[in-house]
Amino acid sequence: MEICQKEKLLPYLNSCLRGDGTNGCGVCWKCFLKNGPLGRPFDINGKEIQIFLKRRPLPTATHALWALQHLQLESKVPELSEYLEQDLSWWTCYYPPAKNILQERWQEEIWNNISNYLSPMKQPYPVESVHYFED
Ligand SMILES: [Zn+2]
Repeated sequence: MEICQKEKLLPYLNSCLRGDGTNGCGVCWKCFLKNGPLGRPFDINGKEIQIFLKRRPLPTATHALWALQHLQLESKVPELSEYLEQDLSWWTCYYPPAKNILQERWQEEIWNNISNYLSPMKQPYPVESVHYFED
C-alpha cells in the first residue's frame, strides 16, 4: 500500500473483490483493510467487517489492528482495546532481516527499492514477538 501510494499507482488499484473494478463495495473486509487506510470510503458497520472484527483469532490481525489505529476507530471495537494499546506504526516499516530470504539475483534491486520507499523497523523487531491470541 505504501509503495503503491508513493508511486502514484493507486488510481489503477483496488483490492475489493466485489466492487465494479474501479470502486470498492465499501462493506467488505478488504475495503476495510486496504481501501480504508487509503482514504477511500468504507463502512465500519458493514456486516462482513463486523463479523471478521469479532472473529478470534482476528483475521490478518496485525494489519487489522494497524488499520483501526490508522483510521482512529479504536472506540468502535472496545473488545480489542488490549491489542490496540500498543504502537503498531512499525507495521509500515520493512523488516531488515528479510533481505536474507530474497534470491540473490533480485536481492539488490528489491532491497534498494524497499529501502527507498519504507523505513527500517527498529530493534528489537516488534514483528518477532507478535502473538495476539492463544492457539
Ligand atoms: Zn469491498
